[in-house]
Amino acid sequence: MFRGIPVSEGIGIGKAYVISGKKLEYEKRNVKNTTAEKERFRMAVKTFCEERENMAAKLEAEGSLAQADILRGHIMMIQDPFMTSQIEDQIDTGICAEQACEEELGIYREMFLSVGDEITEQRAADVDDICCGVIGILTGCSAGSVADIPPGSVIVVEELTPSMTAEMNKANVVGIVAEKGGMTSHSAIIARSLGIPAVLSVPGAMSEFVNQLNVIVDGNDGIVFPDPCEDTLNDYRAQKKFLDEEREGLKAYENRPTETADGTKHELCCNVGNLNDATDAAESGGDGIGLFRTEFLFMSRDSMPDEELQFETYKKAAELFKDKEPGNIIIRTLDIGGDKAVPYLEMKEEDNPFLGFRAIRYCLENTELFKTQLRAILRASAFGNIKIMVPLVTEVTEMVKVRQLVDNIKTDLDEEKIDYDKNIQVGAMIETPSASLIADLLAKECDFFSIGTNDLTQYTMAADRGNSKVTYLNNYLEPSVIRSIKHIIECAKCADIPVGMCGEAAADPLMIPLLIAFGLDEFSVSPKAVLKTRYNISRWSVADAKDIAEHVLTLSTAGEIQRYLRRTVYNK
Ligand code: PEP
Ligand code: MG
Repeated sequence: MFRGIPVSEGIGIGKAYVISGKKLEYEKRNVKNTTAEKERFRMAVKTFCEERENMAAKLEAEGSLAQADILRGHIMMIQDPFMTSQIEDQIDTGICAEQACEEELGIYREMFLSVGDEITEQRAADVDDICCGVIGILTGCSAGSVADIPPGSVIVVEELTPSMTAEMNKANVVGIVAEKGGMTSHSAIIARSLGIPAVLSVPGAMSEFVNQLNVIVDGNDGIVFPDPCEDTLNDYRAQKKFLDEEREGLKAYENRPTETADGTKHELCCNVGNLNDATDAAESGGDGIGLFRTEFLFMSRDSMPDEELQFETYKKAAELFKDKEPGNIIIRTLDIGGDKAVPYLEMKEEDNPFLGFRAIRYCLENTELFKTQLRAILRASAFGNIKIMVPLVTEVTEMVKVRQLVDNIKTDLDEEKIDYDKNIQVGAMIETPSASLIADLLAKECDFFSIGTNDLTQYTMAADRGNSKVTYLNNYLEPSVIRSIKHIIECAKCADIPVGMCGEAAADPLMIPLLIAFGLDEFSVSPKAVLKTRYNISRWSVADAKDIAEHVLTLSTAGEIQRYLRRTVYNK
């Protein structure tokens, strides 16, 4: 089994089709008639541009606009007067056009690679693609043929280029595995726009895979199985069938209440980071906003957003849901620190930023900034059903202090005769082991809970959520995390306060029966996941979900839980 970066979701099962990344070969020659050689180079560029324009037009006609743009970018790059004059200067020294191209474009390639960020590195892949294209025209041969890919192929390639995709019969491709590329690479953009499951950055793929080998590409979890055993094949076939049915059945879940098979209603809200997301959330049919990550409002600027700007943003978000009942808008106060830096705020470098001075800890020491945000939220609460949510809570005192600040601001607003929701609810994100363990105590100071499984998993498992070396531990199907979730929901039920979940686990079909069984009230997912979450909730009666949860609680490893849930959920 190989692990890589999952960049395009879905399951692909097929036969490997390895596209050799053989470098184009040419004979290095000394050239006497440099004028004729430069003309040969210009003709090759002209042909290259015509070919790429034809490919771009074909892709455009197929609706693949992103790839067409990439190819037109290649045309612009090779027509750049500075670049062509540099290549012609090289030819003037007496080397052939092929060598001049390779050497000159090689300089650009190295320059882009040396920057060290993924987007700029992608330019290096573009340069390679251009180089291969022009040299192929000069020599009259091309690298790696993709024209005759047979049906049911999983492409295995060093790097998928836009020019390859223009030539291949996409209907025959069921999966993509590439040695290079990340989330923002062209291979990823191409795979996503074609809806083909893809895993990139799979080291050694070119040497380990041979044509005709059975391959499973798990574009959800970033796993590739060469020559899988019959059991694994059956599991994945069931999952693929489930995903296909889920996709096909989704339309029927528009404009419907979110309820289990036996009619238990759930609230289904969205996670958003800005007003565009909030608009998507309203259009997706979500009941409200279960998590507004306000830090993006702070991070996307070079100075503090003032009270007015924040007020307008929160108010507009609330207004998008004014026709919904109850149309909850949960605004999370600033969750900065850890991996979220705000350049204009004074934040000292820390040895252990995820355990450091962040989120509510920062806000309670920087009360002017915090009060500005709370005031903006309170003012916006006059325009919708806004709630305040506090991130990274670890002790009761934090909630007491926040409530005190909110009360003080309410008094100020009363004096200023400014409208706000007098009963505004204040709740906590339960995303640390401490908050989970004292959920019964916190519930006394909270009007609601929302479980942040992304951080709850990271802190419970002591496994950095951004460190690929410990991804195997960063799993909310671990028994400890599942028990923690169950406990938090029980504490909320005991205290009679609503409890939601805004971490990624809320949208996972494997988690949904457990969450129904434990009694979660609200699911908050990305706008894109609204319909599929509604569909997955509708598949279970509470009694069936409880049977599943009961069995899961007897299992002792994440692997056993995952295997059991996959078989039960996908084969239903
Ligand atoms: C979480 O931790 O689960 C969560 C939803 O918040 P974030 O991903 O922004 O940390
Ligand atoms: Mg979090």
